[in-house]
Amino acid sequence: MSAALRLRRLGLLAAASGGTYTLLRDPSISYTDSASPLAALKTKISDPVASVPPRATQEAALMGANAENPLDILVVGGGATGTGVALDAVTRGLRVGLVEREDFASGTSSRSTKLIHGGVRYLEKAVFNLDYGQLKLVFHALKERKQLIDNAPHLCHALPCMTPCFSWFEVIYYWAGLKMYDLVAMGQLLHFSRYYSFKQSVELFPTIAKKGNNKDLKGTVVYYDGQMNDSRLNVAIACSAALGGAAVLNHAEVISLIRDEGNGRIIGAHIRNNLTGEVFDTYAKVVVNAGGPFCDSVRQMADKNAKPVICPSSGVHIVLPDYYSPDGMGLIVPKTKDGRVVFMLPWLGRTIAGTTDSDTAITMLPEPHENEIEFILDALCDYLNVKVRRTDVLSAWSGIRPLATDPSAKNTESISRDHVVVEEVPGLVTVTGGKWTTYRGMAEDAVNAAIKSGKLNPNNGSLTSNLQLVGADGWESASFTILTQQYVRMKKSHGGKILPGVMDTAAAKHLSQAYGVLAERVAAIAQNENLGKRLAHGYPFLEAEVAYTARYEYCESAVDFIARRSRLAFLDTDAARRALPRIIDILAAEHNWDKSRIKQETQNAKEFLETFKSSRNAQFHDGKHN
Ligand SMILES: Cc1cc2nc3c(=O)[nH]c(=O)nc-3n(C[C@H](O)[C@H](O)[C@H](O)COP(=O)(O)OP(=O)(O)OC[C@H]3O[C@@H](n4cnc5c(N)ncnc54)[C@H](O)[C@@H]3O)c2cc1C
Repeated sequence: MSAALRLRRLGLLAAASGGTYTLLRDPSISYTDSASPLAALKTKISDPVASVPPRATQEAALMGANAENPLDILVVGGGATGTGVALDAVTRGLRVGLVEREDFASGTSSRSTKLIHGGVRYLEKAVFNLDYGQLKLVFHALKERKQLIDNAPHLCHALPCMTPCFSWFEVIYYWAGLKMYDLVAMGQLLHFSRYYSFKQSVELFPTIAKKGNNKDLKGTVVYYDGQMNDSRLNVAIACSAALGGAAVLNHAEVISLIRDEGNGRIIGAHIRNNLTGEVFDTYAKVVVNAGGPFCDSVRQMADKNAKPVICPSSGVHIVLPDYYSPDGMGLIVPKTKDGRVVFMLPWLGRTIAGTTDSDTAITMLPEPHENEIEFILDALCDYLNVKVRRTDVLSAWSGIRPLATDPSAKNTESISRDHVVVEEVPGLVTVTGGKWTTYRGMAEDAVNAAIKSGKLNPNNGSLTSNLQLVGADGWESASFTILTQQYVRMKKSHGGKILPGVMDTAAAKHLSQAYGVLAERVAAIAQNENLGKRLAHGYPFLEAEVAYTARYEYCESAVDFIARRSRLAFLDTDAARRALPRIIDILAAEHNWDKSRIKQETQNAKEFLETFKSSRNAQFHDGKHN
């Protein structure tokens, strides 16, 4: 879409007057029947004045799918994989529903390292074990890495990562390995890797240790992978699927499956709306289980004797102030003294570091343990010339990797980092394993399996490889300048006075990167509805975002906002706690909450934040990291 047309249409929004924000549909936009399916979909998803159907419409669509008129596919789980399946199926013209028991990305998909990567480590294994399977995984992931960045450039970008070398052997080893990584990426390369001398490395990364294990730093090798805002990407996939026609519903849980008593096939599900407690049925020709680390509980609804396929492993990350790492450069230590990988990456204005790999139970709210936080802090100490302090930990969280064995594979011992698609009970296709980076390819495979299982009649093949997600069309890295120049942030003072404030670069950049071209809708709310104040000191999140996400992104609870729509809980747990009253105020106005719901929301959010370990709730006092 031309920038002029986009601006003209968005101008309609900015012009909304009288303090109310009106959604205007431009009548000049119409879809012609002759448009190709991809062009028609692109028009729907990139229409800057389109809105996702309201929650009630989505629920009614699911309830309306009965045994005589079932959906083609019902997806269970709204993580990266499930929303990817819904979007893929919609692009093929299938009738799709999706239910997520909490929120989009509330499982593992908001708790990743946020890297979009081909897997340098798998390449190393491929070379040393002469394992073609591993090499194929890297090829595939590198292709997906490029497509993901192209399809959501506002939420994903290339990130240079520095590998410190403390011997000339390491310099040669990492240089050669990373050149091979470049070579395998071929047409999908982001940028070439290169060696930097000691002096150049220290200039680029001032906090890097000049000595490690009594050896001098010889230099570094810098290579590129991608980085993303994982939960916002997940929400963008869900909203793109909804704009394409899928009935996606968060806070709706599959409590049991419906079986055809005649032939034993799974034909639907009993669903509980977790916000109202209401239970309803929906029918589908195929149910796709995209429950991530929780997929065994869904498999066991179909076959109570099904053996678990998930080998859960928990990974902890911590968030530190920005001064630990320079903006725009990550640090990756491929082998710490005890053989683990440690990352330290700039992310949304702070530094994220991790991760760990420990056995865990499967739970929706995994908590980081102090010894895991201690491990990360200790590992960092060896590679930084900054004093690493426990009191600097702004947030710490844990996620569960859905490492899966293939139940149909002969060697059930093997745990795969690749994905698994199986149909063990007719009508129930399970897709799990893999990684965030490859969600699109996993979804494509799962929909292919569903089409086969349900003898479905798609209009065409998958169209997701070239389909930009909502907010992406027309976005450029300089788009934020439109916000700074054309919008003001209207703020209500404590005394009730309305005061104008500038849309500063930090706020404009944040909105642009979080919402893409739709940032102008958010800015219009900040301007026209006096919701331009920051929610937390030192962070660019604005009040307007709470209203926007409640209206247009299915943000249904305070936790949805602090954890998945904004990333405040992940960036700074205490700042999120302080911002809660205002966030709940705005959500209460948007959703007409009564006093008891407001109380409940406050309670839920506080309990949720207790599972994030900032310095405030640290119990770690070893004297080393005070
Ligand atoms: C610590 C860590 C770091 C990682 N880092 C990276 C990385 O840097 N890059 C990368 O590519 N990958 C990374 N990954 C892997 C990646 O995050 C996961 O592979 C991916 O998020 C899995 O998505 P999913 O949709 O399959 O699972 P999830 O995101 O867990 O989604 C499953 C959803 O199903 C829902 N659900 C379950 N049961 C029901 C039910 N009965 N009814 C309705 N809904 C239900 C759950 O609520 C959940 O939201 C990392 C993983 C971890 C743990």
